[in-house]
Amino acid sequence: MTDLYQNLINGKWIDSGSGETFANINPADRDDIVGNFQDSTVADIEAAVAAAQQARSGWRALGAPRRGEILARAARLIERDLEKIAAGLTREEGKTLPEARGETARAVQIFDYFAGEGRRLSGETTPSEFGRTLLYTVREPLGVVGLITPWNFPVAIPAWKLAPALVSGNTVVLKPASGAPLTALNIVRALEEAGLPAGVLNFVTGSGSVAGVGLVASGAVAGVSFTGSDTVGCGIYALVTGRGGKAQCEMGGKNPLIVLADADIDKAVELAINGAMWSTGQKCTATSRAIVHQSVVEEFTEKLLAGVADIRVGNGAEPETQVGPSIDETQLQTVLRYIDIGKEEGARLLAGGERLTDPPLDRGFFVAPTVFGDVTPQMRIAQEEIFGPVLAVIAVADFEEAMQVANSVRFGLSASICTRDLTRAMEFIDRIEAGLVHVNSPTVGAEVQVPFGGMKDSSTGTREQGRVAIDFYTEIKTVYLEY
Ligand code: NAP
Ligand code: MG
Repeated sequence: MTDLYQNLINGKWIDSGSGETFANINPADRDDIVGNFQDSTVADIEAAVAAAQQARSGWRALGAPRRGEILARAARLIERDLEKIAAGLTREEGKTLPEARGETARAVQIFDYFAGEGRRLSGETTPSEFGRTLLYTVREPLGVVGLITPWNFPVAIPAWKLAPALVSGNTVVLKPASGAPLTALNIVRALEEAGLPAGVLNFVTGSGSVAGVGLVASGAVAGVSFTGSDTVGCGIYALVTGRGGKAQCEMGGKNPLIVLADADIDKAVELAINGAMWSTGQKCTATSRAIVHQSVVEEFTEKLLAGVADIRVGNGAEPETQVGPSIDETQLQTVLRYIDIGKEEGARLLAGGERLTDPPLDRGFFVAPTVFGDVTPQMRIAQEEIFGPVLAVIAVADFEEAMQVANSVRFGLSASICTRDLTRAMEFIDRIEAGLVHVNSPTVGAEVQVPFGGMKDSSTGTREQGRVAIDFYTEIKTVYLEY
């Protein structure tokens, strides 16, 4: 019997009014059904929003330090259940078990970090022009917030939205991605066990087009924080801000790794493989363009291909696996379509390029790690997000051309440069159009205590993570008190 999972509304685990469920499939083995989840309706979303409305005053009155203590308890429970959560993550999303463990440990850090914010959620006190006047600010919660998350970081992204939302005193309706809802559910269970009052956090699964749209459209939802594709994100941003709500959208990337002539080439290759291939390239911060000085492009490519040839693709639950499957058949087909586009555009396929079908890989959605050479900056494979283990190598004549190519895309999430030249590195930091900038480190990876987000079409609204995350989830009240 396949496990059946429910929605959490007003402290009760219940079925959707639709009477329908959808199957969450293991992308490494399509016959393995991870569980059946509620295919929720707009009425379910409305019930969740109403419960969140009801819970607002009590949650706000509890005070930030006490709210933070609940987050800290949730961190300990996630830590206790780390192995179970990580195993579920690998089973439903496909990334390797070490990656899933690392991501779950990151969620623990996020809850601990924002638990501390419960005792730091401060405004400011300033001098006043007037005598006998105390002039200060306080932060207040927005009210009910809607959180919509993608499948590629099914524990980290729900955590980095939930923790600042809750500690700030908001009540929440969370709609996780249909591709990986179990991991989000496990985090919700931890928060419930940690003592979150009924209605403060409501969890509703279902399609983006019904449950997602219903949440975004609800006039009672004061803010929506979304991570996912840029088409959906831009639509959500327009809709929510159009009705006077607050929206924050983290979307795609087309992240470059620049390799200058003086770079440590072995290190550059390591950064490229890490950024492009691990997690099957399904990271918004994945490296998808290696922009390499022409004097070292041959050495770089040769060493890159040697490294890529050694990558072991398989079921993420097996210890030798380094790269798991794409999330589903649709995503796999997208990756394969881009590989065809690259070939048609005249790029040279140097590695991979096909679906892997040797048993047992035929049971899942596996694609070989793929490298294209002779890529020019305007090719679609150099401009559009692919979200698979595909790297485009672009040769450039000098630093100027590298900068121009790096900035020639509409996205601006993350960027890295490999060089030993401090002046060049500083110039890169000044001129690169990206929210996350790396020097001799991979485009991927994020620490919880600093802001995360992009420029250009990669993000809209204020940044997530770090102390600035609180800005989205609070409003500032300015107080003039004359005594
Ligand atoms: P997606 O299709 O945009 O879905 C993201 C979430 O939105 C899912 O929960 C989805 O529900 C829901 N949704 C879909 N259509 C909706 C609508 N019209 N209204 C409201 N909600 C809707 O993206 P994805 O395929 O899950 O994720 C991959 C994308 O996310 C990539 O483009 C990647 O770059 C981006 N991403 C960005 C970041 C970042 O921080 N910048 C991080 C991770 C991923 P269903 O699952 O039910 O469709
Ligand atoms: Mg799945």
